[in-house]
Formats: sequence, structure tokens, C-alpha cells
Amino acid sequence: MTDLSVAAQHTPEDSARSGIAPPLWLLAELTYRCPLHCAFCYNPVDYAAQKDELDTAQWLNVLREARALGAAQLGFSGGEPLMRDDLEELVAEARKLGFYTNLITSGVGLTDQRLGVLKENGLDHIQLSFQDSTQQLNDFLSSTRTFDLKNRVARSIKAHGFPMVLNCVLHRYNLPHVDKIIEMALEMGAEYLELANTQYYGWAHANRAQLMPTAEQLHEAEAVVERYRKAIGNRCKIFFVVPDYYETRPKRCMNGWGSVFLGIAPDGAALPCHSARSLPGLAFPNVRDMSLADIWYESDAFNRFRGFDWMKEPCRSCEEKTRDLGGCRCQAYLLTQDPANADPVCDKSPHHEAVVRVVREAAQRGAALAPDEQPVVFRNDANSRQMSEQKSGPGNARQR
Ligand code: SF4
Ligand code: SF4
Repeated sequence: MTDLSVAAQHTPEDSARSGIAPPLWLLAELTYRCPLHCAFCYNPVDYAAQKDELDTAQWLNVLREARALGAAQLGFSGGEPLMRDDLEELVAEARKLGFYTNLITSGVGLTDQRLGVLKENGLDHIQLSFQDSTQQLNDFLSSTRTFDLKNRVARSIKAHGFPMVLNCVLHRYNLPHVDKIIEMALEMGAEYLELANTQYYGWAHANRAQLMPTAEQLHEAEAVVERYRKAIGNRCKIFFVVPDYYETRPKRCMNGWGSVFLGIAPDGAALPCHSARSLPGLAFPNVRDMSLADIWYESDAFNRFRGFDWMKEPCRSCEEKTRDLGGCRCQAYLLTQDPANADPVCDKSPHHEAVVRVVREAAQRGAALAPDEQPVVFRNDANSRQMSEQKSGPGNARQR
């Protein structure tokens, strides 16, 4: 039964009046704790400084308020969401509220017993990540021995009758294995395969020089994907998320700031995208202090980059602005130190050279590992603490 009885301060009529559509997709980042140490982890590099997780009652309230606002899809993510022993209870409530639910997991902790309870409690879908099709690279990139376990978990997921997305982040190390990764997904019976070229935020940004592929690697991988798509038809749907450093127009990031996506970080901070906390000068509201309706419709953080008024030139007068909305605010900040600039992936941006230079350096470096290759920085608490100290050094203090 769908329970929408939670009082929301904003009704659908209010949202129509304000011209702001309600959120469709809630991402509940239950925890930053994770047994893996991926070199491209999308969690903030200073995650270790954030320990104050919402409790079960607070998460249940987030689910109820988000559903009352209109959100229909719910991702349970992290870190590793299975680190929370209330996941099953949250899934049951989400089902009661009428969400379509997806568990985004590394597979570590997904026992047969937990799979059975999750199925019974109404979980709809599971996204399982692999780092590669080979044990050696999978285990290297996650700095764990988890390849065999992930294989066993994939089989259990299918045995329990869940639809499964197999997710693999692509970069210079594993792009030559794309055919093997597709074969692995087919062999496991995955309905979907997401081949997600690395987006350079968080830990991936810290490892950008090591992870950035060459243009040849990308073209070859795309050709392989096309070949398989033709050969396998509907047996498995393959998504190939393009690497935007090799584009000349930016992605329509999150389909627009404060447009469809509402992320809640483990400590209750509400975010218009996963990486938004990296932006300076924005105070992100917390579900402990404000209702989700007020956060979505009224907060400065969610309104700052809505629409077009915030844009600078060349976006402000650009005829393409309704298509890409100026690209990604976090990428603009990372590469130009101003989140209101055009995403420098765009070749109309005066900062486009920042992207071209990285691509040029990747071509010079080549696909093979150089003897003087810089070591990979793995996501772990010690590195996170060190990086947050660097970040909060003189002139780098985060403004809240
Ligand atoms: S990317 Fe890797 S380290 Fe980061 S949360 Fe996912 S599984 Fe954990
Ligand atoms: S100038 Fe701005 S709006 Fe125009 S295409 Fe580039 S990023 Fe998009």
C-alpha cells in the first residue's frame, strides 16, 4: 500500500505555482563506510572527517518526506549500504511508500540470507559493481581481494530472481578489456551493463593522470560495444557513458541543478549532485534542520544554479544553453575555480585549454604503464585525512 499521508508543506499546486518541478530521484547515501578502496571512488576525498550518520528513524523520515514530495525512484548507495544493518527495514518502508528501489553495492556483505530478506521486503533491483573482468585488475583497483566474492554474489542475485545491472567504471587500465567485461556480464545473466567512463571528481580527480585513457583506447572500446550491441540484441542492454573530456560540448549534468535529483549524504546534508559539497560558498541544508520540501523549493543551495540567471558569458547568450544548461558546476569549479563558469569541456569556454591539456598529456603518456608512473592514491581513511588537511590548509577552507 502506498502511504502518502506525510504532511508536506508544499502541495503539487504549490510546485506548479513556483515553476519548480518536484524531485523524481532520491539517492540515499546511507554511509561513507566501505570495505573497498577504489581509486576512482565518487565519495568526497575528505569523507573520513564525516562520521555522524543519520539514524534509522531519520532515514525513515527522509523516505516519507521525499515520497510525499513526489520522488518515485530510490537508490540505496554509499559507501557500501550493506554496512548498515537497518537496510532491510528501510527497503521495507520504501516498498510500503511505493518507491521503485535499487541497491547500489560492491557485493561485499550481500549474503544469501540478506538477499532473501531484501527480496521479501520488496527490493526491486540490484546494481553490482566490478572493477574489471580479471581478478588481478579488479583486486588491484579496489585494493581488496573481492573478485571471487563478487562472482559468487552475482550468481546469488540471479538465483534470487533480481534484475541486475553490472556496473564497471572504465579508464586507461581496463578499457582494453571491454570485450571480456561484456562477456562476463552475459555469462552472469545481467539484464543491463553500465560501462561508465570515469568522471573526474573526488578520488578519480586525484588519480586523473593515471586513469585518463587515450583517444585510441576509447575509440576501440566504443567499436567493441557497437559490435556486441548488434550481436546480442536485447539479451543485455549495454550503456556506454561517454568520457566528457573527449567531447566538445558538456553533459547536461543531473538533467539540471535542482531539477530531478535529490541526494542525501550520510550525515543528512541534502545535495543537488553527489559532488556538490566540493563547491565553495554554498551552505547545504540538513534534513535534521529543515523539511525536504523547504530544502527543495526554498533553500539557497538548491536555487543557486536553477534556470539561467546565474550564468556568465559565454553561456548566458549562448543559443545552446537550453540543451546542456552550461554543463557541470563541479567540473567548472574544479577546472576554473569558479562554479558559475561554463563547463570547460565546452570548446566555447575560454578555459577549454584546461581539458585539451589533460587529453594531450594522456596521449603523450600512452596506454602502456610508464616506469615512472605516479602511484595510485587509493580511497582509505589515512589518505582521506591527509587530503582533507591539505584541502583545509591556508586559502582552501571550505565556506559553509
Ligand atoms: S567506489 Fe568503491 S570504494 Fe567507493 S563506495 Fe563504491 S565500492 Fe566503495
Ligand atoms: S557556451 Fe555554455 S551554454 Fe553554450 S554550449 Fe558551451 S557550455 Fe553550453
